[in-house]
Amino acid sequence: MSRRIAVLAGLLLLAGPPVPAAAERPDALELRARGVALGRVPLVLIEREAYVPAERLAAVLKGTWTVQNGKGLLTVGGRTAQFAVNQARVLLMGAPMRLESPPRRNGAGWLLPDEFVHRGLGRLVPGATVVAVSLVKPPPGGGPPPRAPAHEVAFGDLRVRSYPSFTRTVVETAGELPYQVEVSGREVLVRLPGLVLPGPQAQEVDDGLVKELQLEPGPGPARLRLTLEGAAGEIKSFVLADPFRVVIDVHRPREEAPAAGPRPAGDPLRVIVIDPGHGGHDPGAIGPSGLPEKEVVLDVARRLARMVEEGLGVKVLMTRSNDVFVPLRDRTNFANKQRADLFVSIHANAHPRSVSEGVETYFLSSEASDSEARQVAAIENGVVQLERGPGRRGGDTLKNILWDLAQSSFQQESSFLAETVLDFMTRSLKLVNRGVKQAGFYVLGGAAMPAVLVEIGFLTNPREERKLASAEYREAAARAIYAGLAEYKRRWDRGIRTAQGAAPAARPEPR
Ligand SMILES: [Zn+2]
Repeated sequence: MSRRIAVLAGLLLLAGPPVPAAAERPDALELRARGVALGRVPLVLIEREAYVPAERLAAVLKGTWTVQNGKGLLTVGGRTAQFAVNQARVLLMGAPMRLESPPRRNGAGWLLPDEFVHRGLGRLVPGATVVAVSLVKPPPGGGPPPRAPAHEVAFGDLRVRSYPSFTRTVVETAGELPYQVEVSGREVLVRLPGLVLPGPQAQEVDDGLVKELQLEPGPGPARLRLTLEGAAGEIKSFVLADPFRVVIDVHRPREEAPAAGPRPAGDPLRVIVIDPGHGGHDPGAIGPSGLPEKEVVLDVARRLARMVEEGLGVKVLMTRSNDVFVPLRDRTNFANKQRADLFVSIHANAHPRSVSEGVETYFLSSEASDSEARQVAAIENGVVQLERGPGRRGGDTLKNILWDLAQSSFQQESSFLAETVLDFMTRSLKLVNRGVKQAGFYVLGGAAMPAVLVEIGFLTNPREERKLASAEYREAAARAIYAGLAEYKRRWDRGIRTAQGAAPAARPEPR
């Protein structure tokens, strides 16, 4: 898949004087019905809130506006919205709808909050859509204002990943959008005119750099607000295509950021993060006699952690050390924050055919190496659904997620690590060698370090389930992974980190 990277209408105002909010606001709303423009209503700003004149709105919609007993009634084709001055409650077709601010009255008549147009118009006039239109002059020296989009664009997803030197926020949408970034104090504001949000969204980040994210539908254009925990370094923005994504990277201040580029030769391997798959309400695969994957892999991970700390003198951190649910994203975020050198995720396999057997290792790739690898990825990725609720994401979108993540930069090192670990596992466990495979694992996607996923056997195979239930096999599996990591470390210490026998020339910035 090609990754076209283009900088669109990104306007970055860094550390300059704060720009008055009014300068970026759209100054009219264009109303459309099934794609046909009905007309525009001007936006009136009062105390930083935007309103539309009620009579003008009624005229554009070919409806009526009447006022009686202190109530304003907007009627379009027999459908009604009833307003009261200083009440943020609207009766839309008889059903209450709450606005952030109430209607107002000025000398020219009633003013309705633009939020009503954005949220309520589709119900009042089925098929109607709204586009914010900006006629604003560019701010002095600031470049062009964002172009109003030709159409409304549906929201896709909001993601955030913490890397050692920066935090990446990605807004994925159904189509291209202009955007505008403004930084003032401890806040980064990204305006996304044309973006249609189902509702406000918030995510806590708390990674020492970004405190939280809020994506708000309006009033005015949708906006992404990043609240910073302290001073930030450079803030970069760009877009990725297919699907369209606006990417905001908040970098740590230069003095706090770890050195960029490859770890110098001779730099010791310091930290390995071991990730026991699943946990809590996500049991993973379940064997015919009921043995859950989450239990097996936690035990193997604990054994492995002990061996690595004692045998290699390398610090080990676990993404979970008991039976708790950890979202996939948090697993690699944790490794990134800890600046881990390696990330090893441990799983046990499942297959519809119970005769499937053996061990295999995976590293991340955008394209699965065969259809079975795709199937394994689909099973392991199923947890994303558990995190987000059913029906939230299909398989194809998952592939898209991978592209704005870091792991593709470490493919060679990861593939080498996967080979080394598998080599020792098949030798000492005397199990079928299913090979090193590539697949689109969400769990590996965000790791800013070489990362592998190890499948230590098939829980769905009754014979292998019995093995996986035994302490002897678990100890042997941990020992085999340990031997692979020990060999990888030996070569690391000699400056060999890829199968080509040389350290990579550069460690590119993850995308
Ligand atoms: Zn698993």
